[in-house]
Amino acid sequence: MTLREIYSRHSEQKNSRFSQKMPIISFEIFPPKNDADGTKLQKLLGHLDILKKYAPAFISLTYGAGGTTQTNSLEIIQHIKKDLDLKIMPHFTCVGSSKEQVECYLKEIQDLEIKNILALRGDFPDGLHAPNSDFQYANELVSFIKSKTDLSIGVAGYPEVHIDCEDFSLDIKNLKRKVNAGSDAVYTQMFFDNDKFFKFQELAKDVGIDVPIIPGILPIMNYKQFEKMLSMARVSVPKSLMNQLEKYKENSDDTKKVGIEFASSQCQQLIDAEITGLHFFTLNTSSSLCPILDNLGVLVKN
Ligand code: FAD
Repeated sequence: MTLREIYSRHSEQKNSRFSQKMPIISFEIFPPKNDADGTKLQKLLGHLDILKKYAPAFISLTYGAGGTTQTNSLEIIQHIKKDLDLKIMPHFTCVGSSKEQVECYLKEIQDLEIKNILALRGDFPDGLHAPNSDFQYANELVSFIKSKTDLSIGVAGYPEVHIDCEDFSLDIKNLKRKVNAGSDAVYTQMFFDNDKFFKFQELAKDVGIDVPIIPGILPIMNYKQFEKMLSMARVSVPKSLMNQLEKYKENSDDTKKVGIEFASSQCQQLIDAEITGLHFFTLNTSSSLCPILDNLGVLVKN
């Protein structure tokens, strides 16, 4: 099923007086690091098995720019497909790659009957700002994938502007290039202020971006980890949320509770606004996601 087909299921739902349209759910995971004996992968598969009951449309698997985790991603895809019978959308970054390398990877994932891919530029490896690459920006990768395959393509979007770009309207124009090149959906970076997302959605619509824009939701689970993630992106955090996180920063259980409460109400507001989908950054665990999805009343499959 292509991304367009997946998200068209949202508009086909009936909106009755008693029930809201439920967004299409997807989960993002990353390949476990330092996992020679496969213990972490088994744990991850266990979490996905738990999350399966929420009937995700697909699991997206990040791609390590710089070669750290690329090698085992094909193996993980095979496990998720075979052991759990879940659909997969691999991410792929083109920084530092030649056309031949990209074509080779595309062939490998198509051999695994993958239908969707998240096409990214990726971040430049440290100290190398203009790597030897056949691709400079993600829109070039989207065009290339489109010319070589019939994969359905997702791309990244930034409700608070990509960290390398100073100008919101320029960043949106660059997003439009990716859509014009043939992408079917936009997945956003994490954000904690829904107004920023709504504004981004509006600006995207103004420039003619007509594909679904799917919010990326991060359940905050650990203060230190959260601080690190914030340092790598341009994301604002509402003062009230930051105060709560700081208050409980020494207690991981309380931090988790704050994260669950915040993400539940953030998602509910997005559902009230009839958002097409929700893409959750799982951080490879189901522990915060289950209570969030239960709070939202996402239908559980028996
Ligand atoms: P682009 O769309 O190419 O944009 C990069 C910058 O260049 C922006 O500032 C943009 O405004 C500008 N730009 C774009 N096109 C042009 C153009 N034609 N001319 C001039 N300027 C242009 N990283 C990973 O390494 N692995 C992952 O798995 C991964 N998954 C991600 C998933 C999501 C949902 C998101 C939001 C990000 C993810 N990233 C991942 C991070 C991403 O790789 C970085 O944010 C990277 O810096 C930009 O990638 P991009 O595809 O958005 O790049």
